[in-house]
Amino acid sequence: MQFIFLGPPGAGKGTQADILADRWQIPHISTGDILRSAIAGKTSLGIQARVHVEAGELVPDVLVMALMRERFGESDIAQGLILDGFPRTLSQAHALDELLSIFKQPHPQVIYFEVATESLVKRMLARGRQDDTEETIRRRLDIYQKDTAPLIDFYERRNCLTKIDGSLSMREVTQTLQESLLKYQCSALR
Ligand code: AMP
Repeated sequence: MQFIFLGPPGAGKGTQADILADRWQIPHISTGDILRSAIAGKTSLGIQARVHVEAGELVPDVLVMALMRERFGESDIAQGLILDGFPRTLSQAHALDELLSIFKQPHPQVIYFEVATESLVKRMLARGRQDDTEETIRRRLDIYQKDTAPLIDFYERRNCLTKIDGSLSMREVTQTLQESLLKYQCSALR
């Protein structure tokens, strides 16, 4: 059970990843959570990542890949995993391919959470996270369109993408995911 939850910020990926990781007893790996805790703990990663996260910009790939390499080295990923917020650029997607092959993991199935932009801004303002001001929200959405949205096509070409309607209620999305996820398997050749 390897999954990548892909979609714009505010699409509900983190909430659903929490619910399903708990239900299936697999780790929920959120680069955003790891970065926020590094920032709070003022670690060297946190200190370097902070300006980018606070500005709503992407943290440089080299930092993100270093933290992912470390995370993949932990033994709990053998049961499966849900990647949330990673990869976010084509170059991270290629680097992930390498990591998967180094750690002999199958390629995750990619779940794309489709949600209209207007609902995203509303949802993010409602959750009130520190980096959720209207200005940074707009910036994160622009960056998502430019850097992350190309991954939809990238994984679709590999036959690895399942689209779900992320505008449904939290409960309905969980149910859709539960019912459909296990049917799909990524047939990608890396
Ligand atoms: P998230 O919780 O996924 O919305 O991430 C919060 C912030 O962390 C983002 O706005 C970025 O600044 C940073 N971030 C999280 N994941 C990544 C990633 N894969 N690559 C670059 N920056 C990231």
